[in-house]
Amino acid sequence: MSGIIQLLPDHVANQIAAGEVVQRPASVVKELLENAVDAKASDIKLIVKEAGKTLVQVIDNGLGMNATDARLCFERHATSKIRQAEDLFDLHTKGFRGEALASIAAIAHIEMKTKQDQEELGNHIVIEGSKLTKQDVAVLPKGTSFAVKNLFFNIPARRNFLKSETVEFRHVLDEFQRVALAHPSISFTLIHNGSELYNLPGSNMRQRIVAIFGGKTNEKLVPVSEDTDLIKIKGFVGKPEFAKKNRGEQFFFVNDRYIKSPYLHHAIMSAFEGLLKEGNQPSYFLYLQVPPHTIDINIHPTKTEIKFDDEHSLYAILRSSVKHSLGQFNVAPILDFERDSNLDTPYQYKDKTADFPTIQVDSGFNPFAAEKPSKSLASFGSYKKDTPQGNWESLYVGLKQDSDEIASFSFESTEVTGSLFESEAIEATAHATYQVHKKYIVSTIKSGMLVMDQGRAHQRVLYEQFLTNITIQKAASQQLLFPLELYFSADEMQVLRDMQPTLENTGFVFDAFTTDAIQISGLPVLMAESDVSVVLEELIHNIQNEIPESSFSQSDTIAKSMAKSLAVKAGTYLTDKEQENLVNSLFACKEPTISPFQKPTFITFTVEDLDKRFAL
Ligand code: ADP
Ligand code: MG
Repeated sequence: MSGIIQLLPDHVANQIAAGEVVQRPASVVKELLENAVDAKASDIKLIVKEAGKTLVQVIDNGLGMNATDARLCFERHATSKIRQAEDLFDLHTKGFRGEALASIAAIAHIEMKTKQDQEELGNHIVIEGSKLTKQDVAVLPKGTSFAVKNLFFNIPARRNFLKSETVEFRHVLDEFQRVALAHPSISFTLIHNGSELYNLPGSNMRQRIVAIFGGKTNEKLVPVSEDTDLIKIKGFVGKPEFAKKNRGEQFFFVNDRYIKSPYLHHAIMSAFEGLLKEGNQPSYFLYLQVPPHTIDINIHPTKTEIKFDDEHSLYAILRSSVKHSLGQFNVAPILDFERDSNLDTPYQYKDKTADFPTIQVDSGFNPFAAEKPSKSLASFGSYKKDTPQGNWESLYVGLKQDSDEIASFSFESTEVTGSLFESEAIEATAHATYQVHKKYIVSTIKSGMLVMDQGRAHQRVLYEQFLTNITIQKAASQQLLFPLELYFSADEMQVLRDMQPTLENTGFVFDAFTTDAIQISGLPVLMAESDVSVVLEELIHNIQNEIPESSFSQSDTIAKSMAKSLAVKAGTYLTDKEQENLVNSLFACKEPTISPFQKPTFITFTVEDLDKRFAL
């Protein structure tokens, strides 16, 4: 019987390889930008349409290619960057696998124009799905232009798999920023759908970071510098007080290549130990230079993970130099890093005097005045406008109107035949709610008892309120005494501009949008001035990453994100009145049973459930 094994034709092999190298438009961006850097360009322009789904073009002023190379570069394993296996251990270029162009050519339409400095004429090549459809000479400037159109035109499954333009563009931007940060001396431009988003002149590291992340970044940076035989470190870490909840600005570059390294990330986190609020992430931009033979970059087709020979030492050096910098710049007490670290007092206990216990006194308290809701009470939403406060009957009504499903959770009436207590005492406590661990609110209902998650419940209340405000476009706004100015990077400004009309519907009043700042003169009623920057930052982050739970509309994402940012968190003490108001507000909602993120807001135990537990 004849054998059944066949060699795959090249174009099929290339398509398969493409699956590894090209996951999305951003992968094309990365490969083309890196090729331009390898070609020693000093000026690189990236032009993108529809987040790269229809066009990714990179124009460089680098070395260019002659006619033979212009054709050969699309072949698999065609590279000018290594000649023999040993070269793999002494890499000075971004590329070396010689598969990117072959892979991209297999799944897209490419038009390439390239000219070497010393040549009169350049080469013009069109290649579609690995097939050469045009090759001729042309008058061209020095350098190379690759235009990649209709990505995945022959793999519809892949094309359909792409995310929204916002998400895909976020990936494109990430790649652009990584390459631009790794090579501050090269000038980079980014144009998306016809508008110029970045125009970065060649500069130094610090200027490049500031040019990308906005003027506000400058004051946040603490320089880091270390020079040993094993490793040279340069760069910056963000001051701890500017740390954010998300891991946006964290960059390692090893020999000018952006890499991901959870291990080295851990080294930085441990250098920041005791300096950050729970859950906050420091920013860092660290440029490491190591001898090329001490690393292996060849472990992943996209080359973002690398293996170090001596990880442990790198970890220790990185950690101590970051600690040292934080100390030197008065961000943290200086530590002698030769010393046994076990002897060090954790940062949070150092230089700390005892706190005086604080007693809160309401100086304006007037026992004869009608009771006013406290600030956080007011923030529980519109409920109190429509419904008399503290009236359990109204809750019952709300339940009946809004949801038959949960009507069975009617609350216990006052007709308690308590013989143990005076009837007055019962009057006062019959509807009481209790807060457990500053996290849950417990209450009795007719069928048994109810345990509510305060954070999720409040999220639901706020979410419905924001959504209503956005849809009816009639939100109340609180005027600020002094307009608030907040700084953002170019890509964040882009997101804010897109959201402006929707944000205005929630109650924001914007006075000005400049290239890197917004001015706000009015806020949604529920928002404190001190919350604004965090809320907007989280919102931008969520829009850019489209939090997985949401898929509908921008309004929905905004309402969810703001509800999440502003809702009371676990650990917040709520007064009786606030607890009660929250319970009432929740049951006045359209969908009280689940949070905007599809998690249950409360659970119930029937008397039978409880009986069963006691029967054990
Ligand atoms: P690799 O970068 O791994 O060598 P690629 O498929 O990305 O593989 O590129 C193949 C070859 O094409 C490169 O080695 C280089 O010689 C040439 N090349 C690609 N892009 C450019 C460019 N922008 N300018 C000059 N030469 C280029
Ligand atoms: Mg390459």
